[in-house]
Amino acid sequence: MKSKHKFRISLVISLALLTSFFYPFKLLTSVNVLNVVHAEESLFITTENLNLRSSFSSKSKVLLTIPKGKTIKKIGVYGEDKSWFKVSFNSKIGYVSTKYVTPKPIPKNSVSSINTIYKTKTSLNLRKGPSVKSPVLMTIPKSSPLMYHAASGPWYKVSYNGTQGYVASQYVTISPSAMKSRSKQTTEIRSSMSLVNSKVLITIPASTEVTVLGKSGTTGSWLKVMYNGITGFTPARHYIVQVAPGDSLSTYPTYITIENLNLRNQASRYGSILTTIPSGTSISVISKSASWYKVRYNNQVGYVSSGFVQPFTGKTPIKSPVIPANKHVILIDAGHGGGDAGAVTSNGTVQEKVLTLNIANRVADELKKNYELYEVKLTRSNDRYLSLVERTNLSERLDADAFISVHINSSPSFATGHEALVPTSSAYTTNPYANASRRLGEVINQEIAMNVPDFKNRGVKRQDVYVVGRNTVPSTLIEYGFIANSVDRSYMSGSNMIKATAKGIDKFMKSYY
Ligand SMILES: [Zn+2]
Repeated sequence: MKSKHKFRISLVISLALLTSFFYPFKLLTSVNVLNVVHAEESLFITTENLNLRSSFSSKSKVLLTIPKGKTIKKIGVYGEDKSWFKVSFNSKIGYVSTKYVTPKPIPKNSVSSINTIYKTKTSLNLRKGPSVKSPVLMTIPKSSPLMYHAASGPWYKVSYNGTQGYVASQYVTISPSAMKSRSKQTTEIRSSMSLVNSKVLITIPASTEVTVLGKSGTTGSWLKVMYNGITGFTPARHYIVQVAPGDSLSTYPTYITIENLNLRNQASRYGSILTTIPSGTSISVISKSASWYKVRYNNQVGYVSSGFVQPFTGKTPIKSPVIPANKHVILIDAGHGGGDAGAVTSNGTVQEKVLTLNIANRVADELKKNYELYEVKLTRSNDRYLSLVERTNLSERLDADAFISVHINSSPSFATGHEALVPTSSAYTTNPYANASRRLGEVINQEIAMNVPDFKNRGVKRQDVYVVGRNTVPSTLIEYGFIANSVDRSYMSGSNMIKATAKGIDKFMKSYY
């Protein structure tokens, strides 16, 4: 699992991404502004008495029980199937199941659900009430962004850095860096967010640029826009969202993809895939975190794994990839070791622990030699004993992105073939990456089947295995054949088997990260 630090980075970046479709990046430099803009969207109500847990697993410690009907604030989404929220409740932070929460309702079709970005023309007093006699809460510096809530005579009710109050409306202006959108079709600006119960204020021809002042806080299906001095509401689906002024493509450094690479909507392996960028494509890198870059590609903004891009130097084609600073970590686990020999042939001459170390070392060498994008680590590199807990703990300690355990099978009767073991869906499985683990096992199994076609494929099996089901990263256990079968032993030590394993790991990593 990734460190907590990385989760925090992802959270801030994904908030930034959500917001960036509607607001210029310039306004996103302050986290306070983000919080203000998205405050209402992150509030949820508990629908049952609900346990606040120490981690995103029903096995983790219960910190407290939140009564039904309480408001909680969502901080992030966790779990492979996104079934956990990280939340804060009464200043306590923990995890809750998303099954028992519902978004806090916000008033529909009210002006207060519109987040309009204004800017102060001068340094300006934020007052408690709509009057010059009302106490000054603070002085807002010139050119600060404000969130508009409502008008009260010549006063605007606004939020600034989380504080609500009133400002004199003549000293604020629509932010000049407000988003522009172009209409895809002929449409109208209406007096309110309804197609039936509102007046048409003005008709907008197709392919016309309007200034976006905000969007509906409920579903985002309406935009508040300004065109020819007229302000009103218009259906968001009639517009193409465009780049904000000052947010020019050319200001970002150009990188080149060195593999076919998934563009995701979040800086996380949970993020859904927006599109796949072909290898050798130039992209603009907007910002960087440890292992994810926020990029623009074909007017889409999203995140790519930093391991598969390199700075564009003007030279094409790219011959050898630059080794990125933050490579994905593959952890290879040679089964058994030390006092635990694993399976042994009846004459005692062949021990599983020796074969697994040999295969693990060779898979690691193959990955290092032919797949430079990965950092390859071993749970053991010599003949020593490691408990199953120690092995799975290494996933976390070494910040692994995939865990592959190497084993040799045994059977009381004659048997042959290779197989991959993946998590079951029983309660035994606590690995939050159960689906990814199944995919990892399937991809390696398929590669072996394709590259060693004469060797019997026993398939992908769901089985409760500690290093798979109780791991914290995508994990599989490969049984490379039966120890008592000399034909199996010649297959398992063949270079095709080693190459196929490495290729499968690489395929999984590229499809997953
Ligand atoms: Zn074994």
